[in-house]
Amino acid sequence: MNLRQANEYTRRLFDTNRVKWVHEGTKPADTSAEKSVNVLIGTLSKHCAMCLNLNGCCFVEEKCPPKPLHPNCHCFCVDIPSITAKAECPIEKFTKYIFANGNSKKDLFESWGHSIMDSQYLQQEFIKQAILSYSVGDYELGLLNEYGQRVNIAITLKRKDKNGYVTFRSGWMVYPNGKIVLTTPYGRK
Ligand SMILES: [Zn+2]
Ligand SMILES: [Zn+2]
Repeated sequence: MNLRQANEYTRRLFDTNRVKWVHEGTKPADTSAEKSVNVLIGTLSKHCAMCLNLNGCCFVEEKCPPKPLHPNCHCFCVDIPSITAKAECPIEKFTKYIFANGNSKKDLFESWGHSIMDSQYLQQEFIKQAILSYSVGDYELGLLNEYGQRVNIAITLKRKDKNGYVTFRSGWMVYPNGKIVLTTPYGRK
């Protein structure tokens, strides 16, 4: 991170309101299995899976799903002092996906000098950058559906083949209380 970015992040920490989405009376879905249960509940009852799966999720106020989400949506947001971000980034996203034979992204990452041996390094870099960006609101809202809200976060990697950096978009699913989980390691810019 350069000085300009550091100043921008510091400003955001003080100037940005953070909120938590509330769907009253239901338990937040903390795992992917619990999200799937909510999707099932959504198909079997009048409960809305999208709202159930947004319950407890944290956003900066200006990048929060719109309220109401639909007619008769009773969800609301409460202010929270900060987003204590936790990012989960399964190493298999690199070892078994990006660097899988036949994946076009393998050539791309290798052209930057990164190989499957760097999977742990990449995992740590993704986690570090995602935690910082999400907690200060440096993300874009991505797909919102019955499983919940995804956010897109820019990842900048130092090239190993030569001097310089590459920046691309990664996709994360939002879970309650500051947790995000990597879904798409490399998306289009
Ligand atoms: Zn709803
Ligand atoms: Zn709702």
